[in-house]
Amino acid sequence: MDILKVKDLRKIYHTKKNEILAVENFSFDFKEGEFIAIVGPSGCGKSTILSILCGLDTASGGTIEIDPNLKFGYMLQGDNLFEWQTIFKNCLLGLEINNEVTKESKEYVRQLLKTYGLEEFIDAYPSNLSGGMRQRVSLIRTLATKPDLLILDEPFSALDYQSRLAVSDDVYKIIKQEKKSAIMVTHDISEAISMADKVIVLSQRPSIIKNIYEIKLTDKSTPINNRKAKEFAKYYDLIWKDIDYHV
Ligand code: ADP
Ligand code: MG
Repeated sequence: MDILKVKDLRKIYHTKKNEILAVENFSFDFKEGEFIAIVGPSGCGKSTILSILCGLDTASGGTIEIDPNLKFGYMLQGDNLFEWQTIFKNCLLGLEINNEVTKESKEYVRQLLKTYGLEEFIDAYPSNLSGGMRQRVSLIRTLATKPDLLILDEPFSALDYQSRLAVSDDVYKIIKQEKKSAIMVTHDISEAISMADKVIVLSQRPSIIKNIYEIKLTDKSTPINNRKAKEFAKYYDLIWKDIDYHV
């Protein structure tokens, strides 16, 4: 089932001096339960697309049809945890903003923290946690409001390479286990192939869709294992060629 249908999305930024065409002709139908990755060079318009999809910015053209019952959850660059609040309080933030803190919703957060190995840190502060654990807290905060669609904008970019692999594996498992749909923006081609069902490749700005790949891997499992699949290198080469990096 389609939860979000985007047709010919276009975005022009007007600055004092000129106009910047950031996105052109972006069309895609997002289906329930799918994990979609959007890759493209830095500055091509990835965050712009996400901001428009979740209503934080307006489009300059095109149409977006959203399932009226669809609830969005965001996880943006870095973990954005408040250092002066406990892990539990940090996880309640989204609920507080929505005025949804109840006995039940608090219990749900407690349950998520327990399920994902953070029970003993409920009353700890972010500085006591590793980068990977902080990222998990950030995801739990997003999940607390029970969104259907998760919007992830370069969620792992603050982490070093090793943690990045481990955390993406973690986050992927949680998203699948909680049966969420996801749209993740990244400039990391391997991350996109290892996590997504489909990868949308954008060109340099103004970003147009260069290609869309359905990732079919034998023995598709978790992101870390998917990197070992025999088709992985083939997708990597195709996407690398699509993205015309100018260095
Ligand atoms: P990405 O996330 O792919 O790195 P962005 O979507 O953030 O790229 O930005 C795409 C282009 O639009 C960039 O050239 C950026 O400078 C420009 N841009 C983004 N936000 C604004 C804004 N508020 N005003 C003017 N230009 C902007
Ligand atoms: Mg961005």
